[in-house]
Amino acid sequence: MASLDTDRFRERLLQEKQRVEHALGYLDEENPGSLEDEGEDEAFDNHLADTATLTHDRELDYTLEENSENILAAIDQALNRIEEGTFGTCARCGQPIAEARLEAMPYATKCIDCKRLEERG
Ligand SMILES: [Zn+2]
Repeated sequence: MASLDTDRFRERLLQEKQRVEHALGYLDEENPGSLEDEGEDEAFDNHLADTATLTHDRELDYTLEENSENILAAIDQALNRIEEGTFGTCARCGQPIAEARLEAMPYATKCIDCKRLEERG
């Protein structure tokens, strides 16, 4: 088995999870959908409806939110893998993921070689 310090990575993952959850909470506040002050927001939106930047910002926020949810899911999976003892093993080729890569992205599921193959298509 790999001699990874999983306690340390678990700590990192939990911190990252908190950070992302916080970011998601912030985005929800910025884009209230069905909250009670919707009326006020609608008036605000109509006022700025003709500015292209608003639409652009919204798309940006949406993408960010989507990514954050993916990251949250990946973090949860990584935490599960720590419990199962498979953390740090490439999901594709089964080889150990370089520790430097896990340092940079503790929720990585594939080694850098497989990741590159995947990105190349
Ligand atoms: Zn691999």
